[in-house]
Amino acid sequence: MSESQAFDVLVVGGGATGAGVVRDLSRRGLRSLLVERGDFGTGTTGRYHGLLHSGGRYAMKDSNAARECIAENRVLRRIAPASIEDTGGYFVATPDDPEDYVEQFPAACAKAGIECEEIPVAQALSREPALNPRIRRVFRLPDGSVEPWNLIEANLADARAHGSEAWSYHRVVAFDKTGERITAATVRDERSGATTKISVRFVVSAAGAWAGQIAAMAGVQLEMRPGKGVMLIYNQRMTDTVVNRCHKSSDGDIMVPVHTVAILGTTDVRVADPDVYEVSREEVAALIAEGEKLFPGLGKMRLLRTYAGVRPLYQPPADVQAADNRAVSRAHTIVDHADRDGVDNYVSIVGGKLTTFRLMAEDTVNAVCAKLGVTEPCTTADAILPGQVPGKTYWLGHRLAEHEAEGGGDAALICECEFVTRPMLNAFLDEHWPCSIDDLRRGTRLGMGPCQGGYCTFRAAGLVAERGAHGAAAAAQPVAEQADEAIVSYLRERFKGTRPIAAGRQLQELWMVLGMYLGPLGVESLINPAPAAQGVPAKATPVPATRASKSTKAGEAFDAQR
Ligand SMILES: Cc1cc2nc3c(=O)[nH]c(=O)nc-3n(C[C@H](O)[C@H](O)[C@H](O)COP(=O)(O)OP(=O)(O)OC[C@H]3O[C@@H](n4cnc5c(N)ncnc54)[C@H](O)[C@@H]3O)c2cc1C
Repeated sequence: MSESQAFDVLVVGGGATGAGVVRDLSRRGLRSLLVERGDFGTGTTGRYHGLLHSGGRYAMKDSNAARECIAENRVLRRIAPASIEDTGGYFVATPDDPEDYVEQFPAACAKAGIECEEIPVAQALSREPALNPRIRRVFRLPDGSVEPWNLIEANLADARAHGSEAWSYHRVVAFDKTGERITAATVRDERSGATTKISVRFVVSAAGAWAGQIAAMAGVQLEMRPGKGVMLIYNQRMTDTVVNRCHKSSDGDIMVPVHTVAILGTTDVRVADPDVYEVSREEVAALIAEGEKLFPGLGKMRLLRTYAGVRPLYQPPADVQAADNRAVSRAHTIVDHADRDGVDNYVSIVGGKLTTFRLMAEDTVNAVCAKLGVTEPCTTADAILPGQVPGKTYWLGHRLAEHEAEGGGDAALICECEFVTRPMLNAFLDEHWPCSIDDLRRGTRLGMGPCQGGYCTFRAAGLVAERGAHGAAAAAQPVAEQADEAIVSYLRERFKGTRPIAAGRQLQELWMVLGMYLGPLGVESLINPAPAAQGVPAKATPVPATRASKSTKAGEAFDAQR
């Protein structure tokens, strides 16, 4: 045990909810610590669909949820405009969607207070020509898209400005209890292995789909029902508007434009462990088949990768157990473990949506304050987050426009797709060092565009390694070795997402990028390191004879290291 520290409140989990909770606690005068086992936003918040809900998807089945969404949609546009693209949303009736649903939809939106305007089909098709020309009706709603990492950073910056702390790569591994109270938590630094004892007055678990695991450490059972959702990333924005099917929410019925790409989603399947799941080729094929009803020809468009996230669904034992995960409520619940489980100073916040994270945090902190006798009101709906210009949402060309406004010229681009420059990366490294290429990706969007890191990973690896060469670990690990390590871990993660879609044109692309890394850059010698480890110089393995065999072989090598 290296040290001990004391805080008013410990918040477990560095997704949007935890970031919102620690911000709110801090603004009410409670000095708090947020701990996250990985980088911030590496749980569900970094693996979601990207939609700023208008509430339209809930209007027909859950008016309260819809009302919360539209209220928080307006709040977030005000306090966090830099994290939002104001894409607008269409709810379109395809020939497959039931007439009675479509007929009742505008009234349900009106009941929830959501602006919903029917527009001529021709007008929608002229803005979004890739849409199915057979759609019958179109409603326009205030959907948008949200950048999660930037949103978390802004919340944490506000929390820090109000005296709190947030530690990434720190995992809660145990709680100390005295009687009916948690008195301390043991937190392990995942990079160094060192542990710290945190004395606390109160614990908030904002661990999402992992909340059951945190509860178990406190000797409590919490009935989480994690639901996996699969999404597909396309190499282009075939739509600039969020497009939803106007029907009861189902698989593959929404396309969200996110920065330079568009994302089709999603599914909902129960999983036993939120850390263990796969995406199958069957799931990919089923999503594309449904997506074709919105955008015919989708099956011929180029997919970049697939990914999945796990919904933090909660179903109390008293509720009838739904067979289908889609039947489990998306509402948020604050579980007070005092009444239920006899642990006085511990609450879990579960369920909910990213769009409503601030409200979830407000409700949670109200509960904590009531217990601690704090009477400060919540201010998070009115205070604009740090780094935001009121009313200025981002748009696709904003980075280029800012560069040109500053005089233009050579931008020292590292990632062409997402317009990430060397000064942007250096600024991020200055602020967040030590970090990996994957951390850079979340912080700057490096490698998230159409080439998916093919052309920028090795450039960024050089910068990361250069930084390492001047740090404390410099003598222990040579620059080249650090660059190699950075590239392999990044490619391994990327490969996971391309394997289930590796067919047709995507297989060609995967083959080309892997060929570049395995050939000229000699990465295959890194993923089969035996000769190098014995002091034999690294050497690229000869190219296998066929496309299929080579990509399979390369894939196996990456898979073997997962
Ligand atoms: C497929 C899918 C699509 C979705 N799409 C949308 C959408 O478009 N719009 C929308 O509004 N919502 C959407 N949602 C819902 C939304 O993403 C989630 O509700 C939200 O991101 C949950 O955030 P969170 O902070 O509660 O959980 P998380 O982001 O999962 O944060 C919990 C954190 O706890 C950490 N943790 C776990 N154990 C420990 C430990 N022992 N110590 C320290 N830290 C720990 C985890 O690493 C994790 O980062 C979607 C969800 C899914 C699954």
